[in-house]
Order: sequence, then structure tokens, then C-alpha cells
Amino acid sequence: MPSRERRLTVRLDVSELYSILYSVYGEPGWWPAETEFEVCAGAILTQSTSWKNAEMAIASLKSAGLMSAEKLAHADVTAIEELVKPSGFYRQKAERLRVFSRFLLERHHGSLEELAGIEMGNSRNELLSIHGIGEETADSILLYACNMPVFVADAYSRRILGRLGLVYSKSGYAEVKRFVERSVGGDVVLYNRLHALLVEFGKKLCRSEPACSRCFLSDRCKFGSRKLKVEKRVSNREHKDQSGRERYDKRQLG
Ligand code: SF4
Repeated sequence: MPSRERRLTVRLDVSELYSILYSVYGEPGWWPAETEFEVCAGAILTQSTSWKNAEMAIASLKSAGLMSAEKLAHADVTAIEELVKPSGFYRQKAERLRVFSRFLLERHHGSLEELAGIEMGNSRNELLSIHGIGEETADSILLYACNMPVFVADAYSRRILGRLGLVYSKSGYAEVKRFVERSVGGDVVLYNRLHALLVEFGKKLCRSEPACSRCFLSDRCKFGSRKLKVEKRVSNREHKDQSGRERYDKRQLG
């Protein structure tokens, strides 16, 4: 029985998509952080909010000298809450930062290298067992802080790949992650860039209201081609109606 992915009519594969995005946007330089621990804190702080808001919380934690597992694990939770307020859901996030820091200290002597050294399935399961760490956060930590070959199938990736017809539009996190990993193999650098490039593309063009008429992928995109065809039909009809009205007005006046 063919997989759900294979039954789709695909006009572009993941490798081509990666090459095109890379040639358009260049090296994304992700994840923007000074240390691996900061990557983890950023992955927690950016949950359900924009990166801009997360960045403000990161800057506050850094200027308070708390950007480390040792410091956060023992800090007063109300002090952390105050510092991470700009990222929203600050109570949960302050608690998550503390719980994650304690996990890292207790299970891995505070070392992300040690976490990266164990079998990937186990490290992922360990992260997922922490309250408040879901698949996207766990995979961001594994990829960007531990340099492990996993794809982060966040909402941008799912939306873009669904619109391009590479996966079904309602495909969930695990399905999209599996599809990309099977399609392009296990290259850390490629996963790193591909995810970052999809985020860039999802912010600039393939937004929730997509800018298909300006998109360099429109002729290879299922959703975009359909959208542009409908828009053209509507515009032709409007043009015809307008000409008809003008002819009618002329007749009435003349
Ligand atoms: S054509 Fe539209 S829907 Fe398709 S990838 Fe481009 S912006 Fe997204």
C-alpha cells in the first residue's frame, strides 16, 4: 500500500525546495545564540510567541546573569517570572526553565554534550518526559543545541510543505518530520538550514495569508497555482462586468 505521502502529486521534492530556498535566502546562520544552553532557553521561551518577544526575555535573563542551568535551577521562580514576562505565559515558562535546568543538572551533570552523547531516541524521550517540553521544543534542542540529525517540523514547515503538495495539509508533526527525514537523509547541517529557511520563507511569502502572486515557487505549488487561477478568473469577470456596465451607460446616455 503506498504511503499517504506518495499518493500526492508532487511538483517539487524536498531537496529541490532546499536548494531553491538556499539560493534565494542564503546561509541562515541559525540558531542565534551565544551558548548551547541559551539555545535551549530560547526554544522554551519562543513557545507560543514570536522570536522577538523571546529575545527580550533572553536578554533580561542574560543581563541578570541567569543564563545557565546552575543559575536557573536555583533561582527564585518569581525573579525568573519577572525576567521572562515579555515572552508571555511567563509563569509556565519560568517553571519550565527551572525544571529543564534541574533535569540537565541531575541527569547529565549540567552538560548538553552528555545529553548529545546518548542514543538519539533516548535523549528525545528524556526531553519529552519533561513537563512543558513538546516535540518541537525537544527537536529544536536536539538539532540546534546537541547537533543531532532531527528535523523540526514546526507550524511553518507543515504549512509550506502542505501547500506545496509534499504532504497532506492536515499532516501532523510526526508525519511531516518522518517524511522530511526519509526524503533527505540524516544531515545535521541540512536540517538546520532547511528548518531556518522554511521559517524565513513562511514569514516573508508563505504567510498564513500567502503572497502567491510574488512567490518564486508559484508555478510549482499546488495551492498557489489554484489560488492564482481563481484570482485571475475573478479579475477577468470583474473586468467583463465593468466593460458591460460602461457599454450600458454609453447606450443610456447616447
Ligand atoms: S505559491 Fe503561495 S502557497 Fe505556494 S509556496 Fe508560494 S506563497 Fe506559499
